Amino acid sequence: MSDKEKLTPLMRQYKAVKAKHTDKVVLFRMGDFYETFENDAKIASRVLGITLTKRSNGKAADTPLAGFPHHALDAYLHKLLKAGLKVAICEQLEDPKLAKGLVKRDITEIVTPGTAVNDKFLQSGENNFLGALWLGDHSGVLALSDISTGDFFFLKDSKKKIRDYFNARPPSELLYSDEQQEIIKSFIPHYGGLKTPLPDWIFDTVYGREQINGHFRTHSLKGLSLEEGSVEIRVIGAVLHYIKENFQRQLAHITSVRRIHLNEYMGLDQYTIRNLEVFRRLSGETGEGTLIHVLDQTSTSMGARLLRNWLLQPLQDIKAIERRLNYVSLFLDQPKLLEDIQTILREIPDMERLTARLSSGKINPREIVQYGKGMVHCLALGQLMQNHLDFSLSNPGDLQAVAEKIRDAFEENPPVQISDGYVFKNSWHEDLKSLRDIAYHGKDFLLNLQNTERERLGIPSLKVSYNRVFGYYIEITKAHTGKVPGDYIRKQTLVNSERYITPELKEYEEKILTAEEKLLELESRLFKEFTDELTQSIELIQTNARIVAELDVLACFAELATRHQWVRPEVTEETSLEIKGGTHPVVQSLLPPGESFIPNDVYTDTESDQILIITGPNMAGKSTYLRQIGLIVLMAHIGSYVPAVSARIGRVDKIFTRVGASDNLAFGESTFLTEMIETANILNTATKRSLILLDEIGRGTSTYDGLSIAWAVVEYLHNSSDVAARTLFATHYHELTELEQILERLKNYNVAVREYGDQVVFLRKIIPGGADKSYGIHVAQMAGIPLEVVNRAKDILHGLSGSDHILPDGQKMVKPSIKGTEQAVQLSIFEAEEHEVLKEVKTIKIEEMTPLEALQK
Ligand code: ADP
Repeated sequence: MSDKEKLTPLMRQYKAVKAKHTDKVVLFRMGDFYETFENDAKIASRVLGITLTKRSNGKAADTPLAGFPHHALDAYLHKLLKAGLKVAICEQLEDPKLAKGLVKRDITEIVTPGTAVNDKFLQSGENNFLGALWLGDHSGVLALSDISTGDFFFLKDSKKKIRDYFNARPPSELLYSDEQQEIIKSFIPHYGGLKTPLPDWIFDTVYGREQINGHFRTHSLKGLSLEEGSVEIRVIGAVLHYIKENFQRQLAHITSVRRIHLNEYMGLDQYTIRNLEVFRRLSGETGEGTLIHVLDQTSTSMGARLLRNWLLQPLQDIKAIERRLNYVSLFLDQPKLLEDIQTILREIPDMERLTARLSSGKINPREIVQYGKGMVHCLALGQLMQNHLDFSLSNPGDLQAVAEKIRDAFEENPPVQISDGYVFKNSWHEDLKSLRDIAYHGKDFLLNLQNTERERLGIPSLKVSYNRVFGYYIEITKAHTGKVPGDYIRKQTLVNSERYITPELKEYEEKILTAEEKLLELESRLFKEFTDELTQSIELIQTNARIVAELDVLACFAELATRHQWVRPEVTEETSLEIKGGTHPVVQSLLPPGESFIPNDVYTDTESDQILIITGPNMAGKSTYLRQIGLIVLMAHIGSYVPAVSARIGRVDKIFTRVGASDNLAFGESTFLTEMIETANILNTATKRSLILLDEIGRGTSTYDGLSIAWAVVEYLHNSSDVAARTLFATHYHELTELEQILERLKNYNVAVREYGDQVVFLRKIIPGGADKSYGIHVAQMAGIPLEVVNRAKDILHGLSGSDHILPDGQKMVKPSIKGTEQAVQLSIFEAEEHEVLKEVKTIKIEEMTPLEALQK
């Protein structure tokens, strides 16, 4: 007998389903439980912490099994997704009571990390993207879709830009074609999300066009700004294919797909986002210590997500920046308006995610009512804003009609489950009232019956009760059975009592039960009809939700500006940057009480003060200064006020920040090589409009290599006309300050330090001129290095800082002569004079010596 024949019919059914979904955990509905079998059971038991048991499977060997109650699905599902697993849900397709033979079952939904719409899995203030990537020879195309909000966009650009964009917002799950498996893996080697390769035909352009036209109900791709046969179709088509396959339907809330033009936004690569600690600290933690933690004073989840998107896509269009700033100014001028707006915003639920739940058929009655209330609040915001800055909602009249319809249809506090009843108002459908009277007040009738029968028969202990076996019955204790009238029909005898039914009771029971059933049927049908119709309004609701999200972020900027007394930046088309009294928004908020943050100015200009070299001892505040400038520039480009007394910012097309390798060690990957790759990338891509912040570049290698590289990088940034970007270079190599004498547009600054005897005090003030000493030994002393070591270090330093530096191995380091020609400086920064011993060692022919000779030598 083959294995197959030994299986029970149920297991055979399971195996057939599983065979089509080998890469997923299959949740197999059996009555009130979802069960997992075999290897899936082992995985489920480990990930979910549920007991692994065995099921005797006919004559075959025992099958491992693990399950959980069906109502716990949401809770368990998100754990499986968090573990990076894909889940296929196999439901019973017919009522087991009515089924003839084996209940029909099939997959009704596939849930993966990139397609989740479940609140427990999603972070409210963050997008959850599903991505699809296709790489050509020189360019790449990327599509990103957040199914939980309906966002869907794509971009085509050079591979490098695509990679930067991808790494800055890595999706939870990435689709790519089988044939590109290898090149994609090497393209994004550190990608930590779920990789989902798909058969090649899914990325085909003809198939893609069918998917796109089918989903958006378009006849041609022109409307979506797509060329026939273009590569963009591959990734958009693949995303639509995957969504349809997973949800087993098209999702109505994905109403459009937008093309992103990267040149409309400031370029920020992953290193800059990381170094500026925008979303995470350098140590990798989220929350306190990050820019988003300080900035996110939004009132809605939609606003929180939009703020993140704005931070990733700062604007280049000065008019658009001004428009945002104008709103912030408006709110600052009218604090009462701001307060009223925030009060309303706080009441608004996540309209985007509710829309996704509506479209995927997961919304429940309680959520619909929230949704309706959200619309009412949006309309109230529209009212408040209507006379300001051409603000308007989109078709507020239609939105009002939808909100009113929800209010008219639904009970004020409906249950989550339709089966709990009282979803719709009586007035919504003519049968509701009469059915409810019977179904719910029928129980009052029974109570009445109990009372009248007690009186009529004189049996005070007579009880009307219910059980599953005979439904409603009358129970009479043995002492009173003599009084039972003739129309009572005895059904059961217990030790102390008898149970009866009467025709009247049965008739009523029938009425109650059918009324309950009919009611459930009616409310379910009405709900389906209502949600189907509501789906027609999805685009309207989405557009308005988006407007409200914007208002939320702008109100948040105003809130921050008030709270911290930030100023309105001026963004111009110049290539200068002037900040007075700037502070670091995050470090400032973290200083211990009693310590105050020292504000600093900056002036840089590609024409005169292009490169600023900032020297100063460790811990003086160099990195903080660099980052604060980067953050102020970033904030200005998203339309926020900034932490400064004044800020005039020549538009910046890209911010680059690089931190020398040793500061970066927390990431493990930071070797000197990565540091150099990153630096090379800046030199190759910066423009005259960029802002470059280099912190201790060159530190990851030996002093002389590092200094030489730093020196050459500065010269290149100064002399190459293409990349003559505004640059701030923090370094503890004071040798670099000598460049001021030969490079016209380079200026020296240092962080002021005051010495009191042996102690140094950091003044945190950036002042013109180069630092004269390194103060490293003072810092060592402050850190508690034993005095003996500190003193010895001073001696060594003293010995080293004669006319020429003596290296530990005895080599002499000769400083370059600045007075020489520039050529000479570039070619030989340091010449090492070879030590006598070294010369001799080099002449030894070790292979011609005996071991003893070698040892003696
Ligand atoms: P460096 O880069 O020179 O080694 P950091 O920028 O890391 O120094 O600064 C060291 C510490 O000094 C910071 O963690 C911060 O607490 C403090 N600090 C930096 N700048 C300021 C400032 N302007 N005002 C007050 N404290 C500051």
